[in-house]
Amino acid sequence: MTAELWRLTAHEAHEGLRDRQFTSVELTESVLARIKSVEPRVNAFITQTAELAIEQAKEADAKYEAGAATPLTGIPVGVKDLIVTKGVRTTAGSKILENFVPPYDSHVYEQLRRAGAVMVGKTNMDEFAMGSSTEHSAFGSTRNPWDLDLVPGGSSGGSAAAVAAGECLVALGSDTGGSIRQPASLCGVAGMDPTYGRVSRYGIVAFGSSLDQVGPIGRDVEDLATMLDCIGGHDERDSTSNPEPMPDLRHYLGREIEGLRVGVPKEYFMQGMEPGVTTRITETLALLEDLGAVVDRELSLPSTEHALAVYYLIAPSEASANLARYDGVKYGYSYQDGSSMWENMETTRGHGFGPEVKRRIMIGTYALSAGYYDAYYKKAQQVRTLIHQEFQEAFKRYDVLVTPTTPNVAFPVGAKLDDPYQMYLNDIHTLPAAVAGLPALSIPCGDSDGLPVGVQLIGDFFQEGKVLQAAHALERGMPWANRLPQL
Ligand code: GLN
Repeated sequence: MTAELWRLTAHEAHEGLRDRQFTSVELTESVLARIKSVEPRVNAFITQTAELAIEQAKEADAKYEAGAATPLTGIPVGVKDLIVTKGVRTTAGSKILENFVPPYDSHVYEQLRRAGAVMVGKTNMDEFAMGSSTEHSAFGSTRNPWDLDLVPGGSSGGSAAAVAAGECLVALGSDTGGSIRQPASLCGVAGMDPTYGRVSRYGIVAFGSSLDQVGPIGRDVEDLATMLDCIGGHDERDSTSNPEPMPDLRHYLGREIEGLRVGVPKEYFMQGMEPGVTTRITETLALLEDLGAVVDRELSLPSTEHALAVYYLIAPSEASANLARYDGVKYGYSYQDGSSMWENMETTRGHGFGPEVKRRIMIGTYALSAGYYDAYYKKAQQVRTLIHQEFQEAFKRYDVLVTPTTPNVAFPVGAKLDDPYQMYLNDIHTLPAAVAGLPALSIPCGDSDGLPVGVQLIGDFFQEGKVLQAAHALERGMPWANRLPQL
């Protein structure tokens, strides 16, 4: 019975655990064996925590015995390596944090542990979450389980690949401009970026603080709802954490979507998109109509085209400030053989950071400098407000917006590494919602020549429930439904 338990979704596994068909130790052993067999090819993890996982699984089994289990008790999860875990190395994919062992837990990991989840490892990522392919990791690139010559997307590529490959049942990622939705799309799994402020950023290695948000990756919508129910809600240690009480998101699942008002922004169907992606999205819109939704294909959001420029000024600006702390003095890698403090600091940062991170620090520092602040950073913030207002207007008329998640399917390893602009363009569909702070998710909606295609659903502020409701209804009619790659 224990042989293929790694194939289960979290909610299926919970039922099996609750009905005593197997134990969490057996489930965890199945996942650890799966990791052993596929990880050399996928490289989804930076750090594996097998021993800790077995310990946590034993505790989870005791919770089931005591009747104290909740939906995530005993479920093997992957945790993106910028989520701080006490006593377990947390690198953010960077050489500069290669040996950093945090003395405290992040809010989200605390919540997972309170629920009795089992951590099997820390997942691979682009350095400091800067990237769309997981190739900017200091620990080697992650491969796409659907085709090992292709990238899994990024920056949460390790989390998405691990879920797709059965190396964990669910995972946590983080999304600044698309880093949950884009890799979920490229790996054929579901991923959600919650409303900015829904999930505490306490203990998350900072990239762009006004954009960063932690969210779930899973094999289906129900698992996204369960995970978000667990990690969301107010936390006083993050001043941007929303004080609203967390609604029961699972409550929205299984409901009809008759009369749901769906807007389809024209600007998201741009030239150069992969034809297979456009076809799958067109079919998804027809399915929505079959389910009783009212679909308007004529919505226009003209500011969409500015989201990329806005994001690539604001995110690097915030990054340049956030990454000033890695100076070789406080923590992390430290070069000390120079002849002055300045030389040590410069060499620490020169050795410690990879090329993409240095590029962002330089762009951000430039955009924030006295002579250019008004022309770049301030202007970007103003256009950000316009994007936000345009969405607000749209949500007076629509419940959800539906778009492709990415313009193309997974691309070959190395294909965009030398051309940062081509890499940045991969987030063209995920950036606008991130810039506005809106909740958005991606679910698989079919394939293009055998590779997964994702559809994105965007909701109004704190309307995760409505987005999950629509996605759940769609998922049941979708040709994809929980397909797993041959590995
Ligand atoms: N790919 C985008 C970037 O490189 C978004 C990353 C993210 O969401 N963390 O910045």
